[in-house]
Amino acid sequence: MIRRSVQVVIVGGGIIGIAVAYYLAKQGVDVVLVERGDLSSGTSGACNGGIAMQTKGSGIKLKVALKSREIYQNLNEELGEDLEYEMDGSMIIAETEEEVDYIHSLAERQRKIGLNVELLSRKEIRERQPALSDCVLASTFCSIDGTINPLKVSFGFAKAARKEGANIHTYTEVQGIQVHRGRVSAVITDRGNIRTETVVNAGGIWVPEIGNMVGAEIPIRPRRGMLLVTESIPPIIRGSLNSAKYLMSKYSEGTSGKTGKEISGGFGLRAAKNGNLLIGSSREFVGYDNNTTFEGISFIGREAVRLLPILRHVSLIRTFAGLRPSTPDGLPILGEVPEVKGFIMAAGHEGDGIALAPITGRLIADLIAKGEYPEELAQLNLQRFMQ
Ligand SMILES: Cc1cc2nc3c(=O)[nH]c(=O)nc-3n(C[C@H](O)[C@H](O)[C@H](O)COP(=O)(O)OP(=O)(O)OC[C@H]3O[C@@H](n4cnc5c(N)ncnc54)[C@H](O)[C@@H]3O)c2cc1C
Repeated sequence: MIRRSVQVVIVGGGIIGIAVAYYLAKQGVDVVLVERGDLSSGTSGACNGGIAMQTKGSGIKLKVALKSREIYQNLNEELGEDLEYEMDGSMIIAETEEEVDYIHSLAERQRKIGLNVELLSRKEIRERQPALSDCVLASTFCSIDGTINPLKVSFGFAKAARKEGANIHTYTEVQGIQVHRGRVSAVITDRGNIRTETVVNAGGIWVPEIGNMVGAEIPIRPRRGMLLVTESIPPIIRGSLNSAKYLMSKYSEGTSGKTGKEISGGFGLRAAKNGNLLIGSSREFVGYDNNTTFEGISFIGREAVRLLPILRHVSLIRTFAGLRPSTPDGLPILGEVPEVKGFIMAAGHEGDGIALAPITGRLIADLIAKGEYPEELAQLNLQRFMQ
């Protein structure tokens, strides 16, 4: 039976909404999460599990990612689940002089924020990753980067949230939100209405739709990314790899992409615990289309084989695509929407939502339960797009 009155309703059962539910329930807040499909049926179920600090730029995103990583350190124990967290380091590899300059300058800026990024010589690169092609000129290495199983995180948070008293309703769609005198008053679902004064909008790429229900304009749009999955093989790399080209496309193109629809992106690779390799990824704006394409898969495959020639002999077993919730500045949107009291954003994490889920859950829960408004929320609120 769906609850009829509750302190907080969370819209969206992806990793972000579920993390918020857990941290709220843990503080004794009466919370209902409403998801129109299954848990993690959106982007959180069609992604990779990188918990890499090096890919978080050199500003506020890196600062919050470091806090999130700290939470991940003890999350297995806290949730009582094996989340397959491995802190096995990551490298950003460069093939051109421009890319070498880019990774050197990024590493320097990241060190100023407290992230220990090493620069490897060509000899050290070969020693660490003998399978890498000679076209790799330079690389960084960050030993505290790691990977996790994103589905295990979502389901681990959900199980723990339920234990703490949260109600999670799947296959329940939010169809409207009532506002009374500038304050949220109820959520209308296809299984009845729920009275509440606080709604968390964690609807991933669908947050603009949910924002429209209260008259708020939220600048998030889907950015497709494809991933290739190989057969399970014995280890050929240590830790995970990303190309500088991928990061440059992530941070240099803003929200428009090159021409908007053109495929960009680059190489990223990690091994899952069972030996399957996950290889990514492309970046493109094609609306809500989450199909894979021959063009996208070929783009990723070509990058991968050029950088790791041994992959020529490894079979793909599946490909899939997910839609990243992309904001104009690549940063999440967190906190209350100014015109609508009680309407709180927890969305727009682009390609970083797995890494940022624990800190997002904690920040939003502390805002709601204790009224805490730290610097992070001040920098990541919706108002930054309203000037
Ligand atoms: C190819 C790819 C690779 C990635 N790799 C990484 C990585 O390595 N590391 C990392 O940190 N991040 C990665 N990401 C990003 C990460 O997956 C996302 O940032 C994250 O999953 C977003 O989670 P979310 O909860 O905001 O959205 P979602 O998981 O999409 O959840 C939103 C939910 O809201 C529900 N919903 C929407 N509207 C309604 C409604 N009206 N009523 C009820 N429910 C509704 C949807 O059904 C959906 O389940 C990757 C993404 C992609 C596409």
